[in-house]
Amino acid sequence: MANIPLRKGGPAARIAVLPGDGIGREVTPESVKVLRAAVNRPMEFVDLDWGADKFLREGVTLPPGAVEMLRDEFDAILFGALGDPRVPSNQHAADILLGLRFKLDLYVNARPVELLHDRLTPLRNRSERDLRLIVFRENTEGLYVGVGGFFKKGTPDEVAVQEDMNTRKGVERIIRYAFEHARWHNLKRLCMSDKSNAMTFAHDLWQRVFKEVRQEYPEIESRHLYIDTLAMEIVRDPSQFDVIVTCNLFGDIISDLGAQLAGGLGLAPSGNIHPGATSLFEPVHGSAPNIAGKGVANPLGSVLTSGMMLDFLGWKDEAALLKDSVRAALRENKVTPDLGGALKTAAVGDWLADYVAKNAK
Ligand code: ATP
Repeated sequence: MANIPLRKGGPAARIAVLPGDGIGREVTPESVKVLRAAVNRPMEFVDLDWGADKFLREGVTLPPGAVEMLRDEFDAILFGALGDPRVPSNQHAADILLGLRFKLDLYVNARPVELLHDRLTPLRNRSERDLRLIVFRENTEGLYVGVGGFFKKGTPDEVAVQEDMNTRKGVERIIRYAFEHARWHNLKRLCMSDKSNAMTFAHDLWQRVFKEVRQEYPEIESRHLYIDTLAMEIVRDPSQFDVIVTCNLFGDIISDLGAQLAGGLGLAPSGNIHPGATSLFEPVHGSAPNIAGKGVANPLGSVLTSGMMLDFLGWKDEAALLKDSVRAALRENKVTPDLGGALKTAAVGDWLADYVAKNAK
């Protein structure tokens, strides 16, 4: 397999902005504000109003032709959050987010776990240099494909089956992506995690593919840990990890564990990526209906997410600037109440925009 085109680089970018519901609509505009102040290149933002309001008004979730439009006309999607108490089934969220994930084949879920201020970790005696890793979760297969069924549902003899689907192509491409990321960022340690001692078919495939692919990256020190061991080790000593690659289910869990180690939901960014093609970037938090509309949502997760998007576009300096601005806001306590600050969402956005404008090269 040829090397993966990690970046969708170019002199200009066209971004679809999809704030969605709840606090997604509050944090995403702050990100756009900061991006406009930080990036001195042609960058066009196009707003999309997909979400609960549109669904309730028009019955539309993902409009016809949406996937083709995003794939053909945009470089990336900046996403907020979906979820609204008026849509208890969450149908619109499933259609839009899962629809895009599968139809754009966004097979990489990238979840950086980076401590940006010592005070934010619940771990004792750990500092910024101890917690700087990235989890790559396989995003299109595994236990999340929805293959399964019930037998004798609702009876005392009920059986429920959920299949764990792993394809050679799917396993190989996520493992390879993790290695390529390590090489591109000059990261020296990669850990593949599975449960091959118990999942003797599905994760035997992971073992075999890992052993094959690692041969191509001799400069990277790669090892394997069972997922239960990884969960222990990441808490005991997170400084031993640079890159972690794992399946859909384990990635879901371990990256949330990581998010808490690095300051919680309000700060966690993520990317849903298909290398070289339109990819979707979203903060890890949901729409948080309990605080929506109050202007107190923390926009830092969304701003860090925008930084990941810039990195994906190949604009490394601007990506670093966004991360610096978040670090500075944390240092100077220019943050929202969830992080112990007194600023409103928009005031944090203003402060960050001002910071990046002053520090842009
Ligand atoms: P989901 O949409 O994933 O089902 P949710 O919307 O109920 O979940 P999340 O947004 O994931 O909840 O977050 C859970 C809680 O964490 C929220 O109710 C909120 O109190 C807090 N929280 C999450 N994100 C933020 C944020 N950006 N700023 C401040 N608080 C947040």
